[in-house]
Amino acid sequence: MRRYRQDRAIPRGARRGVPCRKVLRGGFFHGGIMRYNIFKHEDYSEFSPAPEGEAFDFLISSGSDFEYTVFPGFCDVHVHFREPGFSYKETVLTGSRAAAHGGYTTVCTMPNLSPVPDSAENLLPELIAIAAAQDKTPVRVIPYGAITKGERGGELSDMEALACSVAAFSDDGRGVQSGEVMLRAMEKAHSLGKIIAAHCEVNDLLFGGYIHDGEYARAHGHRGISSESEWREVERDIRLAEATGCALHICHVSTKESVSLIREAKARGVDVTCEVGPHYLLMSDRDLQEDGRFKMNPPLRSEEDREALMHGILDGTIDMIATDHAPHSAEEKSRGLSGSAFGIVGLETSFPALYTGLVKTGVITLEKLVRLMAINPRLRFGIPYDGSEYTVWDLGAEETVDPERFLSLGRATPFAGMRFSGRCALTSAHGKTEVYKN
Ligand SMILES: [Zn+2]
Repeated sequence: MRRYRQDRAIPRGARRGVPCRKVLRGGFFHGGIMRYNIFKHEDYSEFSPAPEGEAFDFLISSGSDFEYTVFPGFCDVHVHFREPGFSYKETVLTGSRAAAHGGYTTVCTMPNLSPVPDSAENLLPELIAIAAAQDKTPVRVIPYGAITKGERGGELSDMEALACSVAAFSDDGRGVQSGEVMLRAMEKAHSLGKIIAAHCEVNDLLFGGYIHDGEYARAHGHRGISSESEWREVERDIRLAEATGCALHICHVSTKESVSLIREAKARGVDVTCEVGPHYLLMSDRDLQEDGRFKMNPPLRSEEDREALMHGILDGTIDMIATDHAPHSAEEKSRGLSGSAFGIVGLETSFPALYTGLVKTGVITLEKLVRLMAINPRLRFGIPYDGSEYTVWDLGAEETVDPERFLSLGRATPFAGMRFSGRCALTSAHGKTEVYKN
Protein backbone atom coordinates (compact mmCIF):
# COMPACT_ATOMS: atom_id res chain seq x y z
CA MET A 1 0.00 0.00 0.00
CA ARG A 2 1.33 3.40 -0.91
CA ARG A 3 1.52 5.73 2.00
CA TYR A 4 1.56 9.47 1.98
CA ARG A 5 2.27 11.82 4.77
CA GLN A 6 -0.51 14.26 5.24
CA ASP A 7 1.87 17.13 5.87
CA ARG A 8 2.85 17.08 2.19
CA ALA A 9 -0.52 18.43 1.36
CA ILE A 10 -1.24 22.08 1.00
CA PRO A 11 -4.81 23.11 1.63
CA ARG A 12 -6.18 24.39 -1.62
CA GLY A 13 -7.82 27.39 -0.02
CA ALA A 14 -4.52 28.38 1.56
CA ARG A 15 -2.91 28.38 -1.84
CA ARG A 16 -5.56 30.74 -3.08
CA GLY A 17 -5.08 32.92 -0.05
CA VAL A 18 -8.50 32.15 1.38
CA PRO A 19 -8.26 31.92 5.16
CA CYS A 20 -8.79 28.31 6.11
CA ARG A 21 -7.17 25.71 8.25
CA LYS A 22 -6.42 22.13 7.45
CA VAL A 23 -8.22 20.38 10.21
CA LEU A 24 -8.54 16.77 9.21
CA ARG A 25 -6.71 13.54 9.54
CA GLY A 26 -7.50 10.98 6.92
CA GLY A 27 -8.93 7.53 6.48
CA PHE A 28 -8.20 4.72 4.08
CA PHE A 29 -10.29 2.27 2.19
CA HIS A 30 -10.01 -1.06 0.37
CA GLY A 31 -6.27 -1.24 0.86
CA GLY A 32 -6.11 2.05 -0.95
CA ILE A 33 -6.43 5.46 0.53
CA MET A 34 -9.33 7.85 0.64
CA ARG A 35 -8.70 10.92 -1.38
CA TYR A 36 -10.05 14.03 0.19
CA ASN A 37 -8.70 17.39 0.99
CA ILE A 38 -11.15 18.75 3.46
CA PHE A 39 -10.64 21.86 5.45
CA LYS A 40 -12.63 24.16 7.54
CA HIS A 41 -13.00 27.81 6.72
CA GLU A 42 -12.17 30.34 9.38
CA ASP A 43 -15.80 31.33 9.65
CA TYR A 44 -16.64 27.71 10.57
CA SER A 45 -19.18 27.74 7.80
CA GLU A 46 -18.55 24.49 6.06
CA PHE A 47 -16.39 21.57 5.26
CA SER A 48 -15.63 21.13 1.62
CA PRO A 49 -14.17 18.13 -0.08
CA ALA A 50 -11.70 19.06 -2.75
CA PRO A 51 -12.91 18.46 -6.26
CA GLU A 52 -11.65 15.38 -8.06
CA GLY A 53 -8.12 15.81 -9.25
CA GLU A 54 -7.26 18.34 -6.56
CA ALA A 55 -7.40 15.70 -3.87
CA PHE A 56 -4.45 14.42 -1.92
CA ASP A 57 -3.87 11.14 -0.15
CA PHE A 58 -3.66 10.73 3.54
CA LEU A 59 -3.70 8.28 6.39
CA ILE A 60 -5.12 8.30 9.84
CA SER A 61 -2.13 9.57 11.75
CA SER A 62 -1.51 10.09 15.40
CA GLY A 63 -0.67 13.72 14.91
CA SER A 64 -2.36 16.11 17.28
CA ASP A 65 -2.32 19.17 15.06
CA PHE A 66 -5.63 18.30 13.44
CA GLU A 67 -8.98 19.06 14.95
CA TYR A 68 -11.00 16.61 12.91
CA THR A 69 -10.56 13.13 11.54
CA VAL A 70 -12.27 11.86 8.42
CA PHE A 71 -13.31 8.26 7.95
CA PRO A 72 -14.98 6.39 5.14
CA GLY A 73 -18.70 6.37 5.98
CA PHE A 74 -19.49 3.47 8.30
CA CYS A 75 -21.60 0.57 7.08
CA ASP A 76 -23.98 -1.31 9.40
CA VAL A 77 -25.37 -4.55 7.99
CA HIS A 78 -27.84 -5.04 10.83
CA VAL A 79 -30.41 -2.37 11.68
CA HIS A 80 -34.16 -2.28 12.23
CA PHE A 81 -35.90 0.78 10.81
CA ARG A 82 -39.44 -0.52 11.49
CA GLU A 83 -41.08 0.88 8.37
CA PRO A 84 -43.44 -0.29 7.01
CA GLY A 85 -45.52 -1.64 9.86
CA PHE A 86 -44.09 -0.17 13.07
CA SER A 87 -43.38 3.47 12.28
CA TYR A 88 -44.15 4.53 15.85
CA LYS A 89 -40.84 2.88 16.84
CA GLU A 90 -38.73 4.30 13.98
CA THR A 91 -39.10 5.28 10.33
CA VAL A 92 -36.61 4.96 7.51
CA LEU A 93 -36.06 8.71 7.77
CA THR A 94 -35.52 8.89 11.56
CA GLY A 95 -33.35 5.78 11.40
CA SER A 96 -31.32 7.24 8.54
CA ARG A 97 -30.79 10.48 10.45
CA ALA A 98 -29.65 8.50 13.48
CA ALA A 99 -27.30 6.57 11.21
CA ALA A 100 -25.80 9.75 9.74
CA HIS A 101 -25.38 11.12 13.26
CA GLY A 102 -23.40 7.99 14.08
CA GLY A 103 -21.17 8.34 11.02
CA TYR A 104 -22.92 5.73 8.88
CA THR A 105 -23.53 6.23 5.17
CA THR A 106 -24.83 2.75 4.37
CA VAL A 107 -27.11 0.47 6.40
CA CYS A 108 -28.98 -2.77 5.74
CA THR A 109 -32.46 -3.09 7.21
CA MET A 110 -33.76 -6.35 8.66
CA PRO A 111 -37.03 -7.75 7.33
CA ASN A 112 -39.14 -8.17 10.49
CA LEU A 113 -41.61 -5.63 9.11
CA SER A 114 -45.25 -5.61 8.08
CA PRO A 115 -45.52 -6.71 5.38
CA VAL A 116 -42.46 -8.93 5.68
CA PRO A 117 -40.43 -8.44 2.47
CA ASP A 118 -40.83 -12.05 1.29
CA SER A 119 -41.85 -11.31 -2.32
CA ALA A 120 -41.31 -8.50 -4.79
CA GLU A 121 -44.80 -7.23 -4.00
CA ASN A 122 -44.20 -7.25 -0.24
CA LEU A 123 -40.82 -5.56 -0.63
CA LEU A 124 -42.34 -2.66 -2.53
CA PRO A 125 -43.69 -0.67 0.48
CA GLU A 126 -40.23 -0.72 2.05
CA LEU A 127 -38.57 0.35 -1.20
CA ILE A 128 -41.01 3.25 -1.44
CA ALA A 129 -40.28 4.32 2.15
CA ILE A 130 -36.55 4.11 1.44
CA ALA A 131 -36.82 6.17 -1.74
CA ALA A 132 -38.74 8.88 0.11
CA ALA A 133 -36.17 9.04 2.93
CA GLN A 134 -33.17 9.05 0.64
CA ASP A 135 -34.18 12.35 -0.83
CA LYS A 136 -33.55 13.85 2.59
CA THR A 137 -30.48 12.11 4.03
CA PRO A 138 -27.05 11.03 2.84
CA VAL A 139 -27.61 7.47 4.09
CA ARG A 140 -28.02 4.61 1.67
CA VAL A 141 -30.52 2.02 2.92
CA ILE A 142 -30.43 -1.52 1.50
CA PRO A 143 -33.17 -3.91 2.58
CA TYR A 144 -32.83 -7.55 3.52
CA GLY A 145 -35.21 -10.09 2.07
CA ALA A 146 -36.81 -12.68 4.33
CA ILE A 147 -35.66 -16.30 4.14
CA THR A 148 -39.15 -17.68 4.72
CA LYS A 149 -42.65 -16.40 4.03
CA GLY A 150 -43.72 -14.08 6.83
CA GLU A 151 -40.53 -15.12 8.67
CA ARG A 152 -42.62 -18.05 9.83
CA GLY A 153 -39.88 -20.60 9.22
CA GLY A 154 -41.85 -22.74 6.76
CA GLU A 155 -42.18 -22.07 3.06
CA LEU A 156 -39.27 -20.21 1.46
CA SER A 157 -39.76 -16.60 0.37
CA ASP A 158 -39.61 -15.71 -3.30
CA MET A 159 -35.83 -15.49 -3.07
CA GLU A 160 -35.34 -15.40 -6.79
CA ALA A 161 -37.52 -12.32 -7.27
CA LEU A 162 -35.97 -10.57 -4.25
CA ALA A 163 -32.31 -11.34 -4.96
CA CYS A 164 -31.50 -8.34 -7.12
CA SER A 165 -32.98 -5.83 -4.61
CA VAL A 166 -31.70 -7.12 -1.28
CA ALA A 167 -28.41 -7.09 0.63
CA ALA A 168 -28.87 -10.72 1.69
CA PHE A 169 -31.52 -13.02 3.16
CA SER A 170 -32.39 -13.21 6.84
CA ASP A 171 -35.26 -14.13 9.16
CA ASP A 172 -33.70 -11.90 11.81
CA GLY A 173 -35.65 -11.67 15.02
CA ARG A 174 -35.98 -15.43 15.12
CA GLY A 175 -34.03 -18.50 14.14
CA VAL A 176 -35.08 -20.76 11.29
CA GLN A 177 -36.00 -23.76 13.43
CA SER A 178 -36.10 -26.43 10.75
CA GLY A 179 -32.74 -27.65 9.49
CA GLU A 180 -34.51 -28.94 6.38
CA VAL A 181 -35.88 -25.46 5.59
CA MET A 182 -32.49 -23.84 6.22
CA LEU A 183 -30.83 -26.39 3.95
CA ARG A 184 -33.18 -25.50 1.10
CA ALA A 185 -32.73 -21.79 1.78
CA MET A 186 -28.96 -22.13 1.62
CA GLU A 187 -29.10 -24.14 -1.60
CA LYS A 188 -31.28 -21.46 -3.14
CA ALA A 189 -29.19 -18.54 -1.81
CA HIS A 190 -26.04 -20.24 -3.09
CA SER A 191 -27.52 -20.62 -6.56
CA LEU A 192 -28.40 -16.92 -6.52
CA GLY A 193 -24.98 -15.88 -5.23
CA LYS A 194 -26.49 -14.38 -2.08
CA ILE A 195 -25.56 -14.56 1.60
CA ILE A 196 -27.75 -16.08 4.32
CA ALA A 197 -27.50 -13.88 7.43
CA ALA A 198 -28.56 -16.12 10.28
CA HIS A 199 -30.14 -15.11 13.56
CA CYS A 200 -29.22 -18.26 15.46
CA GLU A 201 -31.63 -19.22 18.18
CA VAL A 202 -33.20 -22.57 19.09
CA ASN A 203 -36.68 -21.84 20.40
CA ASP A 204 -36.86 -25.12 22.33
CA LEU A 205 -33.88 -24.03 24.43
CA LEU A 206 -35.26 -20.63 25.47
CA PHE A 207 -37.55 -21.68 28.35
CA GLY A 208 -39.02 -18.20 28.59
CA GLY A 209 -35.65 -16.59 29.31
CA TYR A 210 -35.01 -12.90 28.74
CA ILE A 211 -31.50 -12.20 30.07
CA HIS A 212 -28.36 -14.35 30.06
CA ASP A 213 -28.64 -17.53 32.08
CA GLY A 214 -25.81 -16.56 34.41
CA GLU A 215 -24.91 -15.13 37.79
CA TYR A 216 -27.09 -12.05 37.56
CA ALA A 217 -30.18 -14.01 36.53
CA ARG A 218 -29.71 -16.45 39.40
CA ALA A 219 -29.01 -13.75 41.97
CA HIS A 220 -32.05 -11.69 40.98
CA GLY A 221 -34.54 -14.42 40.22
CA HIS A 222 -34.76 -13.87 36.48
CA ARG A 223 -35.30 -16.46 33.79
CA GLY A 224 -32.14 -17.02 31.76
CA ILE A 225 -31.47 -17.57 28.05
CA SER A 226 -28.91 -20.35 27.76
CA SER A 227 -25.82 -19.92 25.61
CA GLU A 228 -26.70 -23.23 24.02
CA SER A 229 -29.82 -21.71 22.44
CA GLU A 230 -27.41 -19.69 20.26
CA TRP A 231 -24.46 -21.94 19.60
CA ARG A 232 -26.52 -25.04 18.78
CA GLU A 233 -27.93 -23.23 15.77
CA VAL A 234 -24.57 -21.67 14.86
CA GLU A 235 -23.22 -25.21 14.78
CA ARG A 236 -26.07 -26.43 12.57
CA ASP A 237 -25.87 -23.52 10.14
CA ILE A 238 -22.11 -23.88 9.74
CA ARG A 239 -22.66 -27.55 8.93
CA LEU A 240 -25.29 -26.63 6.34
CA ALA A 241 -23.08 -23.92 4.83
CA GLU A 242 -20.27 -26.43 4.56
CA ALA A 243 -22.56 -28.92 2.81
CA THR A 244 -24.12 -26.43 0.39
CA GLY A 245 -21.23 -24.03 -0.22
CA CYS A 246 -23.56 -21.18 0.73
CA ALA A 247 -22.03 -17.97 2.05
CA LEU A 248 -23.15 -17.73 5.67
CA HIS A 249 -23.04 -14.68 7.92
CA ILE A 250 -23.85 -15.19 11.60
CA CYS A 251 -25.66 -12.24 13.15
CA HIS A 252 -24.88 -10.81 16.60
CA VAL A 253 -22.56 -13.48 17.99
CA SER A 254 -22.70 -13.37 21.78
CA THR A 255 -21.28 -16.60 23.25
CA LYS A 256 -17.78 -18.00 23.58
CA GLU A 257 -18.93 -21.30 22.08
CA SER A 258 -20.14 -19.53 18.92
CA VAL A 259 -16.79 -17.78 18.55
CA SER A 260 -14.95 -21.12 18.80
CA LEU A 261 -17.27 -22.80 16.29
CA ILE A 262 -16.80 -19.97 13.78
CA ARG A 263 -13.04 -19.92 14.31
CA GLU A 264 -12.84 -23.67 13.62
CA ALA A 265 -15.13 -23.38 10.59
CA LYS A 266 -13.01 -20.62 9.08
CA ALA A 267 -9.91 -22.74 9.59
CA ARG A 268 -11.62 -25.54 7.62
CA GLY A 269 -12.35 -23.10 4.82
CA VAL A 270 -16.10 -22.71 5.36
CA ASP A 271 -17.47 -19.52 3.79
CA VAL A 272 -18.64 -18.01 7.08
CA THR A 273 -18.36 -14.53 8.58
CA CYS A 274 -19.92 -12.96 11.64
CA GLU A 275 -20.71 -9.70 13.38
CA VAL A 276 -20.86 -8.52 16.98
CA GLY A 277 -22.58 -5.52 18.56
CA PRO A 278 -20.63 -2.88 20.52
CA HIS A 279 -22.52 -3.70 23.73
CA TYR A 280 -21.35 -7.33 23.72
CA LEU A 281 -17.72 -6.16 23.55
CA LEU A 282 -18.02 -3.49 26.22
CA MET A 283 -20.50 -4.98 28.71
CA SER A 284 -21.42 -8.26 30.34
CA ASP A 285 -24.18 -9.44 32.68
CA ARG A 286 -22.16 -7.85 35.48
CA ASP A 287 -23.37 -4.50 34.13
CA LEU A 288 -27.06 -5.37 34.15
CA GLN A 289 -29.55 -3.11 35.88
CA GLU A 290 -33.26 -3.61 36.48
CA ASP A 291 -34.14 -1.53 33.45
CA GLY A 292 -35.46 -2.35 29.97
CA ARG A 293 -32.57 -0.50 28.36
CA PHE A 294 -30.37 -3.48 29.28
CA LYS A 295 -32.61 -5.97 27.48
CA MET A 296 -31.75 -7.21 24.03
CA ASN A 297 -31.59 -10.50 22.17
CA PRO A 298 -29.11 -12.11 22.36
CA PRO A 299 -28.57 -10.86 25.91
CA LEU A 300 -25.44 -9.43 27.52
CA ARG A 301 -23.54 -12.62 28.36
CA SER A 302 -20.89 -13.42 30.97
CA GLU A 303 -17.53 -11.73 31.36
CA GLU A 304 -15.94 -14.90 29.95
CA ASP A 305 -18.08 -14.60 26.82
CA ARG A 306 -17.16 -10.93 26.47
CA GLU A 307 -13.47 -11.82 26.62
CA ALA A 308 -13.93 -14.54 24.00
CA LEU A 309 -15.65 -12.02 21.72
CA MET A 310 -12.69 -9.65 22.16
CA HIS A 311 -10.32 -12.46 21.20
CA GLY A 312 -12.51 -13.06 18.17
CA ILE A 313 -12.10 -9.43 17.18
CA LEU A 314 -8.35 -9.52 17.70
CA ASP A 315 -7.69 -12.70 15.71
CA GLY A 316 -10.13 -11.87 12.91
CA THR A 317 -12.70 -14.56 13.73
CA ILE A 318 -15.23 -11.75 14.12
CA ASP A 319 -15.31 -9.77 10.90
CA MET A 320 -17.35 -6.69 11.61
CA ILE A 321 -19.30 -4.54 14.01
CA ALA A 322 -23.06 -4.30 13.52
CA THR A 323 -25.23 -2.46 16.00
CA ASP A 324 -28.52 -4.42 15.74
CA HIS A 325 -30.11 -0.98 16.19
CA ALA A 326 -33.59 -2.04 17.36
CA PRO A 327 -35.74 0.89 18.52
CA HIS A 328 -38.95 0.52 20.50
CA SER A 329 -41.32 3.04 22.08
CA ALA A 330 -40.64 4.33 25.59
CA GLU A 331 -43.65 2.40 26.86
CA GLU A 332 -42.40 -0.86 25.34
CA LYS A 333 -39.07 -0.41 27.09
CA SER A 334 -40.54 0.68 30.44
CA ARG A 335 -41.44 -2.74 31.83
CA GLY A 336 -38.12 -3.73 33.36
CA LEU A 337 -36.02 -6.71 32.33
CA SER A 338 -38.84 -9.23 32.30
CA GLY A 339 -41.57 -7.25 30.53
CA SER A 340 -39.80 -4.89 28.13
CA ALA A 341 -39.42 -5.55 24.42
CA PHE A 342 -36.06 -6.97 23.29
CA GLY A 343 -33.81 -4.44 21.59
CA ILE A 344 -31.71 -1.32 22.10
CA VAL A 345 -30.68 1.51 19.80
CA GLY A 346 -27.06 1.64 18.74
CA LEU A 347 -26.33 3.76 15.68
CA GLU A 348 -25.59 6.99 17.54
CA THR A 349 -23.28 5.51 20.18
CA SER A 350 -21.35 2.74 18.41
CA PHE A 351 -18.30 4.66 17.24
CA PRO A 352 -17.80 6.79 20.40
CA ALA A 353 -18.34 3.74 22.62
CA LEU A 354 -15.84 1.57 20.73
CA TYR A 355 -13.35 4.36 20.18
CA THR A 356 -13.38 5.10 23.89
CA GLY A 357 -13.57 1.52 25.11
CA LEU A 358 -11.23 -0.22 22.68
CA VAL A 359 -9.06 2.30 20.83
CA LYS A 360 -8.23 4.82 23.57
CA THR A 361 -7.46 1.94 25.91
CA GLY A 362 -5.04 0.47 23.38
CA VAL A 363 -6.90 -2.80 22.77
CA ILE A 364 -7.26 -2.22 19.02
CA THR A 365 -6.01 0.45 16.65
CA LEU A 366 -8.16 3.14 15.09
CA GLU A 367 -7.46 1.57 11.68
CA LYS A 368 -8.78 -1.76 12.93
CA LEU A 369 -11.97 -0.15 14.18
CA VAL A 370 -12.50 1.54 10.81
CA ARG A 371 -12.02 -1.81 9.10
CA LEU A 372 -14.62 -3.39 11.38
CA MET A 373 -17.14 -0.58 10.90
CA ALA A 374 -16.61 0.59 7.33
CA ILE A 375 -14.58 -1.78 5.24
CA ASN A 376 -15.20 -5.41 6.16
CA PRO A 377 -19.02 -5.14 6.04
CA ARG A 378 -18.87 -3.76 2.49
CA LEU A 379 -16.37 -6.36 1.34
CA ARG A 380 -18.43 -9.25 2.70
CA PHE A 381 -21.82 -8.07 1.44
CA GLY A 382 -20.51 -6.81 -1.89
CA ILE A 383 -21.69 -3.28 -1.17
CA PRO A 384 -19.79 -0.89 -3.40
CA TYR A 385 -18.10 2.02 -1.73
CA ASP A 386 -19.05 5.31 -3.26
CA GLY A 387 -16.06 7.63 -2.93
CA SER A 388 -18.39 10.39 -1.75
CA GLU A 389 -19.17 8.58 1.51
CA TYR A 390 -17.31 10.02 4.47
CA THR A 391 -17.82 11.11 8.04
CA VAL A 392 -15.92 13.72 10.02
CA TRP A 393 -15.26 13.40 13.75
CA ASP A 394 -13.81 15.47 16.54
CA LEU A 395 -12.09 12.71 18.47
CA GLY A 396 -11.02 15.07 21.22
CA ALA A 397 -14.55 16.07 22.18
CA GLU A 398 -16.04 14.27 25.16
CA GLU A 399 -19.76 13.83 25.52
CA THR A 400 -22.13 12.16 27.93
CA VAL A 401 -24.60 9.86 26.19
CA ASP A 402 -27.94 11.61 26.44
CA PRO A 403 -30.71 9.59 24.73
CA GLU A 404 -32.95 12.68 24.66
CA ARG A 405 -30.61 14.07 22.03
CA PHE A 406 -30.78 11.04 19.76
CA LEU A 407 -32.22 11.49 16.29
CA SER A 408 -33.61 7.97 16.51
CA LEU A 409 -37.12 7.65 17.91
CA GLY A 410 -35.71 4.95 20.18
CA ARG A 411 -34.13 5.99 23.46
CA ALA A 412 -33.19 2.75 25.16
CA THR A 413 -29.44 2.24 25.47
CA PRO A 414 -27.31 0.66 28.19
CA PHE A 415 -24.74 3.38 27.46
CA ALA A 416 -26.98 6.21 28.71
CA GLY A 417 -25.07 8.53 31.04
CA MET A 418 -21.67 7.14 30.08
CA ARG A 419 -18.96 9.52 28.95
CA PHE A 420 -17.35 8.84 25.56
CA SER A 421 -14.81 10.56 23.35
CA GLY A 422 -15.73 11.40 19.78
CA ARG A 423 -18.34 13.71 18.36
CA CYS A 424 -19.66 13.43 14.84
CA ALA A 425 -19.32 16.79 13.09
CA LEU A 426 -20.58 15.85 9.67
CA THR A 427 -21.63 12.92 7.51
CA SER A 428 -21.74 13.25 3.76
CA ALA A 429 -22.50 10.98 0.83
CA HIS A 430 -24.14 10.94 -2.55
CA GLY A 431 -24.17 14.70 -2.78
CA LYS A 432 -26.04 15.18 0.51
CA THR A 433 -24.63 16.28 3.81
CA GLU A 434 -25.83 16.27 7.39
CA VAL A 435 -23.99 18.57 9.73
CA TYR A 436 -24.13 18.25 13.48
CA LYS A 437 -23.33 21.32 15.49
CA ASN A 438 -23.11 21.50 19.23
ZN1 LIG B 1 -31.33 -10.97 15.49
